[in-house]
Order: sequence, then structure tokens, then C-alpha cells
Amino acid sequence: MAAAGEGSYGLVIGGVEAPAGGGESTELLDPATNRPLARVAVGTPDDAARAMEVAQGAFDGSDWSGGDGARRGKALYRLAQLLDEQQEEFSLLESRNMGKTLREARVDVGYVVRTLEYVAGLADKVEGQTIPVPGSRFNYTVREPLGVTVHIAPWNYPLLLAMRSVVPALAAGNAVVLKPASLTPLTAVRFARLAKTAGVPDGILNVVPGPGGRLGEALVRDRRCRSVSFTGSSEVGRRIAVLAAERTIPATLELGGKSPVVVLPDADVDRAAKGIAFGIFGNAGQMCWAGSRLIVHSSLRAPVLDRLRAIAEAMRLGPGTEEGVEMGPLVSREQEGRVLDYVRAAREEGGTIVTGGDKPSSSALAAGNFVRPTVVADLPPGARAAREEIFGPVLSTFSYDELDDAVRLANDTPYGLFASVWTRDLASAHHLARRLDAGMVVVNEPPLTFPQTPFGGFKESGLGTEQGAGVVAAYTRVKNVLVNVAVPRKKR
Ligand code: NAD
Repeated sequence: MAAAGEGSYGLVIGGVEAPAGGGESTELLDPATNRPLARVAVGTPDDAARAMEVAQGAFDGSDWSGGDGARRGKALYRLAQLLDEQQEEFSLLESRNMGKTLREARVDVGYVVRTLEYVAGLADKVEGQTIPVPGSRFNYTVREPLGVTVHIAPWNYPLLLAMRSVVPALAAGNAVVLKPASLTPLTAVRFARLAKTAGVPDGILNVVPGPGGRLGEALVRDRRCRSVSFTGSSEVGRRIAVLAAERTIPATLELGGKSPVVVLPDADVDRAAKGIAFGIFGNAGQMCWAGSRLIVHSSLRAPVLDRLRAIAEAMRLGPGTEEGVEMGPLVSREQEGRVLDYVRAAREEGGTIVTGGDKPSSSALAAGNFVRPTVVADLPPGARAAREEIFGPVLSTFSYDELDDAVRLANDTPYGLFASVWTRDLASAHHLARRLDAGMVVVNEPPLTFPQTPFGGFKESGLGTEQGAGVVAAYTRVKNVLVNVAVPRKKR
């Protein structure tokens, strides 16, 4: 496989990296230039079946699953150390593949290191219960690994979101098959190489890049698949839910969002504007939890919009790998087109473009998938750009006078992933935290999460949670054991 820049990447099945069975590979482009970046194998349904078979064999045959959690924890902790040592190489690769800035990629890789450390510590703390029952009986529960778990990841935080579910599934003793997004598989393949060095047995972590429809569905449909963790769009998430239901397996779904940011009249305007900008322009707006609907008290509308415009216009756009760049390109030309289509729709539906709304004028950026940070005002709340997930650096803004109206606007969406509130008043903060219909609410912070706190959406944003102290147990099944311990009477 001839390749440019980052070389060639295969499928990792049973600890061996190899081309796809059908021999097909595809060229990935650098989002900042649209020049060739790397070549990657395109897995087929046959590769899916082979990965599942190898994973099942490793689950049944290695001492990973039956062995003790402490050993798995040690391997994961070793993996954290190795990843930490290679943090810069991983960050550079993620930045070149996905387009995010090197600074953002470093945060992502650091987050994976922290996830590995945290989950490693949970691996030997998956406990059953003893439950009192009547009579001479002893009842206890055991938590067992599920078997082969399938993980399907999106392209916006390629390594971080894959590992958010893969690492706890490994800690619980499962064998994993991961399908990264077609556009961004490079760090996942590199991670599988590292897992081998850390002592994760061959076949326990398999990575199969390829298209969602053909390959992803084949993995979920496979009779050996015992659970699926999906992070991606709500549309595909619904499809995964149907496939999982047909096979009676659990599905964790982490889906889309259109998250509200509510600014109360007493908010610290400078702090709020910085946080709002970070929450919509970070990762070039390609965040499930982007604060994409600003709901600001009418008394602060002008100062907040002024500051947002100033921040947006001062942001330095450029290739993610260039030091000092604050916003990289969108992941693909297709994504760029999609975002610009939404801006066009916003104009047609009565929106005023406060800033941005087009590609930057610099000729140095013309070949890349760049869109300027954009703020839209005056959109009717029912407009497409105000309701649908754009997944780009586009903020829609609304104002309110009464708090009840702010809450109504905030909750008037099919999504329920995330919400943020800016206020100096503690009582209002807690009051809104209760009333906002979202799986996560932050106050006076841009989007922020930690491996030890739960992450999950309400309504069409998902089903189940990732992260938190229960995350390893979530990849187990509960077996109840009842033993009659009555001592038999001796016959006289
Ligand atoms: P997507 O749904 O198009 O794809 C996600 C993954 O699913 C990819 O690996 C893709 O190849 C695969 N896939 C596509 N069709 C499939 C099918 N029929 N069967 C099995 N797999 C299939 O999403 P995307 O464009 O990669 O990512 C953007 C979306 O992800 C946004 O909606 C965003 O909000 C969401 N997201 C959610 C979270 C969260 O934690 N809630 C995090 C990041 C992204």
C-alpha cells in the first residue's frame, strides 16, 4: 500500500495488523489541505466476522476474562503510561487526521490517559452482593464479563470517544471489537499496537476500520456480539437500537445535541462570552455537546453579542498542527458544505449573520475545509438552523425577558444532552439545573467532563451513560446464585 505522510494502516485482528481481506484500502486526506495523508484498509463484512471469531476465541481461551481484575488493571495502567510517553506523537496524528488543533488533541490524549488510569483502578472493584433470603439458603450475585463487545465511534474525538467505552469493557474482562469512524481511524489502530506492548493479549482488542453501513452493521448483527456501545448521530443511533433489539443485546447510545446556553441578567459578561465561544468554536464546533443555542437575557444581548463578535473575529484559523492556531478546519469537504448549507438556510429563514458565515478570505486556507466562527441572530426558534444539529462553528442566539421563557426555549428541542447556565446567583443556578431537561448541566463553565463523572443524554441524545464509578460494572452481566446450605439430618 503506497501512502503519503502518515503511512499505511491496516486492520488489527488477533494482535496482527494486516490489509483488509478484500484488499481494499482508501486514501485519507489532510483536512487542512485536502492533500493525501495516509492509506487505510477498508474492512468488509468478512473481516467483521473474522474479528468477531478471533475476539470470541480470545475471550474463551485467554486468561484475560477469567483472570483477576487486578491483572487487567495493571495492563491498563501500563497502557496509560505508554500512551503518556507517546502523547505528542498521538496528538500530532490525531490533529493531522481530524483537523483539530494540536492543543485540543493534546487535551484529548491526556483525557484517554486519565481514563485508563481511573478505569485501571476500578478493574478489581467489580463486586457482587450477598442477599439475605429465607431459610437455610445462601444467595449471592456474581458479575461476569459479557463476552465480545462492539464499539462504534465517531470522528470528532476519534481516540477519546472510542476509549471511553473500550477501556471499561476491557477492564471488565470482555474482548473488544472497535470500529472507528471511516474518516479518522489512525489513532485507534496505533492504540491497538500499543495495547499489545502493554500486555493486553492478542485478540482481546481488535480494531476494524471501514464503512458504518456495511461493516458496522455486520458487527452488531454477528451472533457473537454481546453488547454495542455507539457514539454518533441520533439517526444512526436509532438504527443501532433496532439492530440491538433484534438480537436482544444491550446498547449504549451517545448521540447528538443542540444544547442551550442560558445567560441570566446577573452573569459575568466577560467570563460568559469566553465560555460560550469555547463551547461553540472549540473543535471547530464539531462537538456533540456544543452550546449551539445561546439564550441570553435581553438586558445583556448587546454586550454578549459584541464580545462574541470580537472573540470570533480575533480567532486565528489554520492547520491544526500549526502552533498558535485556535481553530482548525472541519473534518471534510462534505462537512464544510453541510455547515455552509445551514448558514444559507439561516439567512433564508430570517437570520442576521452577526459575524462569520463563510470561508476565510486568506488564500493560504482556500484548499482546506475552513469555515469562520459564525454567530447568527434573529432566527425564529423553529428555523432549521435553530433546531437541527449543525456540527460546526455556528451559534444561534435568542433573547428572553422572563426566566420561564428561557427554560421553555432551552427545553424545546428533541435533544437533551447538555445545558449550561451563566449566573452569579447560586439559587438560580440550582433552580435551573433542576428544570433543564438535559443529561448534564454545567454552571459558569464551558462544556467540561471527567472520567469519574457520568456522561449521557436524555431524549433523542441517547440511552444509558458512559464514565463514572459504575462504568466497568456496566460491561458485566449479573448472575444470581442460590445455594441450599441446610445440613442433611443423619438417618438413625
Ligand atoms: P455517524 O452516526 O454518521 O457515525 C458514527 C459511527 O457510526 C461511525 O463509525 C460510522 O461509520 C458508523 N455508522 C454509520 N452508519 C452505521 C450503521 N448503519 N451501522 C453501524 N455503524 C454505522 O456520526 P458522525 O458523523 O461520525 O459523528 C457525528 C455525530 O456524533 C453527531 O451527531 C454528534 O452529536 C454525535 N456525537 C455524540 C457524542 C455523545 O457522546 N453523545 C459524542 C460525539 C459525537
